[in-house]
Amino acid sequence: MISRLHDPEHNRWACQIKRTGGCRQPIHLRGKVEHYDRATGRLLHRYSTRHEPNGVLRVACKTRRASRCPACAEVYRADTYQLIRAGLVGGKGVPETVSTHPCLFVTLTAPSFGTVHTRREKNGKVLPCHARRDAEVCPHGRTMSCTKRHRADDPSLGEPLCPDCYDYDGSVLFNAISPELWRRFTLALRRRFARLNGLTVKALREHVGIAFAKVAEYQRRGVVHFHAVIRLDGPDGPDSPPPTWAMADTLEEAVRHAADVVTAEVKPLSRTFRWGTQLDVRRITMDGDLTEQAVAAYIAKYATKAAECVGTLDRRIQPLDDLEALPVRDHARRLIAACMRLGSEPGLADLRLTHWAHMLGFRGHFSTKSRRYSTTLGALRAAREEHRRTEEIATGRLPLFDEDTVLVVAHWQYAGQGLSLGEQLLAAALTGVPVPSAGGGPR
Ligand SMILES: [Zn+2]
Ligand SMILES: [Zn+2]
Ligand SMILES: [Zn+2]
Repeated sequence: MISRLHDPEHNRWACQIKRTGGCRQPIHLRGKVEHYDRATGRLLHRYSTRHEPNGVLRVACKTRRASRCPACAEVYRADTYQLIRAGLVGGKGVPETVSTHPCLFVTLTAPSFGTVHTRREKNGKVLPCHARRDAEVCPHGRTMSCTKRHRADDPSLGEPLCPDCYDYDGSVLFNAISPELWRRFTLALRRRFARLNGLTVKALREHVGIAFAKVAEYQRRGVVHFHAVIRLDGPDGPDSPPPTWAMADTLEEAVRHAADVVTAEVKPLSRTFRWGTQLDVRRITMDGDLTEQAVAAYIAKYATKAAECVGTLDRRIQPLDDLEALPVRDHARRLIAACMRLGSEPGLADLRLTHWAHMLGFRGHFSTKSRRYSTTLGALRAAREEHRRTEEIATGRLPLFDEDTVLVVAHWQYAGQGLSLGEQLLAAALTGVPVPSAGGGPR
């Protein structure tokens, strides 16, 4: 920390760190960018990291995972919020009239893989977890009853009453196949909605578009479920109103039907998976119980949470890792072990369970949307870069060139990642983002 403070290049270093916005694990890049005049080939401007502190440029890691870098995850969360919100009320290139389109907020859950400890409330009172008067005794000698009123922070929540009865294989296979189940759900939904309106899917497309945005969330038992915004548009996406006969009621009916009928199969094991019976469908309205703001905030909240909130690891598990020694709860360990075991079966190679063991089998994206839902995260990022560039040109830090007449040649090389312990303290002082309690050092 002292050597960094006394370094003659400290100011430039501090400037780099401020620009990463408090990133906990900035990426170090070595390289150069050259601007050439397209017509004459003359070099107009050159930037090289050679003159930067330690010869590297430090840039934000842009991770989505709050456990790795709270500052970058916050940027991602805010972007996701804007993206979801634009699809509900307009903005970012989406017209405000989109708020008049019929729109549903749908939660699709996973089926049961065994009884787990739960906390339920009724009229503000916590109910007993799983009270059964004449409860069965399982083959492992455990009584399938739990009369405890679990506290909200009880670590046993989401864990099975009998781990030996629990279907760990089913749980990780469901996670692995859930993106396919979602895809089939969207197809079945379109088919059903078309049929309810007396049309073929092809004919429907000429009048109505169905747009989706969804996030995956881990339940405490370690299985994913999906929250989705499903909206009716006209044939040209959010810019066009849906015809008056395309109604939220019919859309809801189609959602319920599709959620009920779709299946996805893991053929080598002859196992078929479907959604759980708990399906929640609600209308999104400007002034009702469920407002656009609430939905966008809710979805964005999950965009930065991954499986580690279930108590697993936030990194890949290596084949040589000792499963017994991993710092995770027994339930997570069993889920990871199921991934490693099933992942070694040749017939299941496609599911890449070993690779995604730390995600408990889920290898899908956390937030996805159909092409026409609203803007894209890429567009939001590009807008921010453009803003920053304009600012730099205005303050004289970057020369102003006409994009079409200038050739930009860039060479970049990865040169490491992270901050030393002393640097972390300085970065915290510069950016106001607190120092992590453990880890986060250079790698
Ligand atoms: Zn970061
Ligand atoms: Zn219990
Ligand atoms: Zn048992």
